[in-house]
Amino acid sequence: MIQMQTAYDVVVVGSGGGGLRAAISAAQAGARTLVICRGKANRSGATLLAGANISADIACDGATLSRLGISQGKKDDTPDAWLEDVVREGFYLNNQDMVRLFVDTAGQRLEELIGWGLTIRGMEGEREVSVFGSDILDALYGKARELGVEFLPDTLFTDLLVRDGAVCGALCMELATGALKAVPAGAVVLCTGGAHNLFSENSGSTDLCGEGPAAALRAGAELIDMEMISFCPTVTRYPTMYKGNILPYIFISTGYGSLLNKYGKTFTHRYLSPRVEQLALDSEWNKMLLSYAIQSEILAGRGARNGGVYFSLPDHPREIMDELYHDLPPLTTGIYADIMKIFAAGRSITVQPAAHYFEGGVRVAVDMSTNLPGLYAAGECTGGMFGANRVSAATTEMLVEGAVAGTSAAAYAAGCSAPSPDSAQLEQLEGELLRPFGRKGGPAPYQLKRRLHEITAGSLTVVRREEELVSALEQLEQLERELDQVSFTDGQRTYNRQWREYLELRSMLPCARAIAKSALLRRESRGVHVRADHPYTDNGRCLSNIVLSGQALQETLAPAVLTALRPEAGRWSYTDYIERVVETLD
Ligand SMILES: Cc1cc2nc3c(=O)[nH]c(=O)nc-3n(C[C@H](O)[C@H](O)[C@H](O)COP(=O)(O)OP(=O)(O)OC[C@H]3O[C@@H](n4cnc5c(N)ncnc54)[C@H](O)[C@@H]3O)c2cc1C
Repeated sequence: MIQMQTAYDVVVVGSGGGGLRAAISAAQAGARTLVICRGKANRSGATLLAGANISADIACDGATLSRLGISQGKKDDTPDAWLEDVVREGFYLNNQDMVRLFVDTAGQRLEELIGWGLTIRGMEGEREVSVFGSDILDALYGKARELGVEFLPDTLFTDLLVRDGAVCGALCMELATGALKAVPAGAVVLCTGGAHNLFSENSGSTDLCGEGPAAALRAGAELIDMEMISFCPTVTRYPTMYKGNILPYIFISTGYGSLLNKYGKTFTHRYLSPRVEQLALDSEWNKMLLSYAIQSEILAGRGARNGGVYFSLPDHPREIMDELYHDLPPLTTGIYADIMKIFAAGRSITVQPAAHYFEGGVRVAVDMSTNLPGLYAAGECTGGMFGANRVSAATTEMLVEGAVAGTSAAAYAAGCSAPSPDSAQLEQLEGELLRPFGRKGGPAPYQLKRRLHEITAGSLTVVRREEELVSALEQLEQLERELDQVSFTDGQRTYNRQWREYLELRSMLPCARAIAKSALLRRESRGVHVRADHPYTDNGRCLSNIVLSGQALQETLAPAVLTALRPEAGRWSYTDYIERVVETLD
């Protein structure tokens, strides 16, 4: 039996930075607003992890930073100059109208956040301030509470409720009791973040499984550019107890340490020209460029025996180690102090690219609406802002998009009559979500999840090939069929891990299929998407966004939105084109 809840004007799903910022805007517009979140209201998602609590960045053009009195801002910078860089970094696949919104409103978002209590801890570059992810969440959560936003924590969102072609609420499961709850709403804003857990190697938290895009797709919304995934190049693989830790990435980003192949040799120069290699070592371009170089070295058979490549922090003289500890103070405590002991003992660790940021996601317009009336989305679960490669701050994206999505959703909800979920849809969803409880002898969800991880690791990481993508699609379709056979050994609904995994797989499998299909359709290499069998960037034939809709993932190629900047026409080798783009950056 699904429990019907109080109706809200706006329901926001997810309480990372995007969700909290959307809820604030909705409440400021007078909407009664509820945030549904899997974990604690202000302690979940990637926002909490941003910068690994050593140093996250929020971006803003340099002139605005100077105006805000934040030193070192690039005074002669302009939103227009920044827009051009974001578009070039995205290899012209960005929705340029969204980038306009990003550069024009980033300053307001940062300024208000400082007013709500965010501590600025320094500068990261000419366009970035350094903050802690937890501080961003605290500032946003405090403001949301002050405005009367309500929260439904420890609750897993599963589906959108749709009546007469418009969204009218959200279906969710209370993790503690297993109760299914329907929350009627005038509008829903999806802010569920990335789908990191599609990959066994990922830098995100366990609550990021792609329920937002998958539910949007099921309900009739579109997905865009799902093939575009940034990998964090140097995430710890071994020792296993530190698996997933991004400290080596922080080192690489701040200029410390070396990457070595199994022969103890540096290798990035094999894949990157000197200028591009420098960019890889000196800037946030490192995610795309080093991931490509590392994956290529592994594929060439020169990776470490237990996977990945070696990251070493040579035993520097005392003074240089003092510099390192001075630059990165939290290294003296907790898990970081433990990892430092490995280097102090003269050992290295192995690292490899891990799924980190999803450029693709729910297709939105500049007001953050989708093609489905009543449905809005913001933050990492959307696609379009960063095109084929994100270099600028995703924290800024979540704030900019969240603010607009909340306002738009509230305005839409104000014009709606009382939302009333469709009892036939509720009955059908209840049957689908509970079906494995009545079955015996089927596969367990964890078995399917393991196979999903084998497929994504084998075919959907940095360098891709047609045969592997075709095979991945077939295997994913097979897994979706097997999901219909799943059964549980645990018959309880309270804190039932098998049930939770089943619900997650209902979203992870279609998301993985959308990634495989988009990667197959993009027959070129652009930004973070590298096709070994199509190693060129083709502006003549491929400057389109890949849009998918429906359960069958019907594809449409939508010309990229080039309202401000047009790339030169032509076709270049993947690395030559990177070189050309890099030369034009501000
Ligand atoms: C390790 C790491 C470091 C990073 N560092 C930086 C950085 O320094 N600078 C930068 O700009 N970006 C960084 N990023 C990226 C950035 O943090 C994210 O892109 C951004 O925070 C996303 O915000 P969001 O609100 O869209 O999603 P998230 O912050 O991920 O929030 C998603 C929310 O949705 C909830 N949720 C998900 N599924 C469900 C469901 N089914 N039901 C209910 N709730 C659900 C989650 O629990 C969470 O509350 C980093 C990312 C990682 C993983």
